Amino acid sequence: SSVQETLRAAIRNIPDYPKPGVMFRDITTLLGNPQAFRRAIDELVHPFAGTKIDKIAGIEARGFILGGAMAHQMSAGFIPIRKKGKLPHDTVRIAYSLEYGVDEMEMHRDAVQPGEKVILVDDLIATGGTAEGATKLLRQMGAEIVAACFVIDLPELGGRKKLEDLGVKVQTLIEFE
Ligand code: IMP
Repeated sequence: SSVQETLRAAIRNIPDYPKPGVMFRDITTLLGNPQAFRRAIDELVHPFAGTKIDKIAGIEARGFILGGAMAHQMSAGFIPIRKKGKLPHDTVRIAYSLEYGVDEMEMHRDAVQPGEKVILVDDLIATGGTAEGATKLLRQMGAEIVAACFVIDLPELGGRKKLEDLGVKVQTLIEFE
């Protein structure tokens, strides 16, 4: 079957998590499947073959797993974007909107140099609030965001559109309603 079907079948769907009425898309089963994990990383990096990428910025926590593998394959560096209070050195911080409420994320102030080409990655884009926050942080430090990549898009929640309106190219592998 197609790559999309292979990846879709490797994702576990958990009803009513973290709360009633929500269908959680769980990529731990994909990560635990050697073929599916490799296919996902290959698909994520493929559009950037021949493009010099300086760094992959991964959003805590599943973006670290995908981003680490991408960085290795692309011979790029890795930038962790974390929940506030976790990074040990000087940080830049930004508030971002969640489905219900707000939170803050940080990255190290010296994690990216002005003009560096960066790819942002997370497992899933829903409303886009998280990726929007990460985009603003990276741009604040002068990064050039080449694209934002996600294994899963929930198009009904509008995240892709939100990022595209910020001028960010968005690459996703599979969609769920
Ligand atoms: P957004 O900010 O609304 O786009 O939500 C995306 C963030 O929430 C990402 O960091 C995702 O990892 C997480 N997230 C939201 N829904 C799911 C899900 O169904 N599965 C896995 N992660 C999710």
